[in-house]
Amino acid sequence: MRDETGDAIAALHALLDEADSIVSFTGAGVSTESGVPDFRTPGSPWMINKPIPYDAFVESREVRIEAWRRKFAMDDHYRGAVPNSGHRALARLVAEGRSPAIVTQNIDGLHQAAGVPEDKVIELHGNGTYATCLTCGWRHELASIRPVFEATGEPPACAICTGPVKSATISFGQAMPQEAMRRAQMLALECDLFLVVGSSLVVYPAATLPVIAKRQGAKLVILNREPTELDAVADLVIRAESGVVLGGLVSRAR
Ligand SMILES: [Zn+2]
Repeated sequence: MRDETGDAIAALHALLDEADSIVSFTGAGVSTESGVPDFRTPGSPWMINKPIPYDAFVESREVRIEAWRRKFAMDDHYRGAVPNSGHRALARLVAEGRSPAIVTQNIDGLHQAAGVPEDKVIELHGNGTYATCLTCGWRHELASIRPVFEATGEPPACAICTGPVKSATISFGQAMPQEAMRRAQMLALECDLFLVVGSSLVVYPAATLPVIAKRQGAKLVILNREPTELDAVADLVIRAESGVVLGGLVSRAR
């Protein structure tokens, strides 16, 4: 039997070897092998509750309480998630200087946990591993918020300015982080290989990044379990679990 995935992995290695500037763009699929649920999977906790719009969070104490209750329930779902071989392979590309940064739709912090410096992870949807004050921007740690929330039932307020404190993720109805989007677009414009890992590329404007890269002449590789709308314009499409495919890169010298 011909090993189509094996052929595709060989083609991926060849493209990676040719490239001087690789930008990885990751979605939920890179983290499912770490036990982080994909919010689009039927039956996942994200599908049971309607997302809480940003404005409702700001305006209502009751909504903030509900948001924090859900947040900690969700955290318990993937407590102990650690980077998998996909995260480690992408981290290695950064460490070797072959990739200037990773652009991610994920909020799980697993790229950083795999050793990628904070300033080289561009988070389009924010980060769920800490919280920020919506008024003054001060960072608050979940470990100190949770016991107080569970003891008092009150939503956390900023110790500096008393403003509402929210998980540092981008909520439904909240503006995309402009600086992160600007940096991601610059990377798409300057790379010579744009590597999509575990994203079905349906969330805009983030999904325009592969198109930007492709138009300026970069090669486009899509590694995802499901078909995507950009498969037809990609130079290489691999439909497989990302950790399995990228794991081979970790043990392989250039
Ligand atoms: Zn504040």
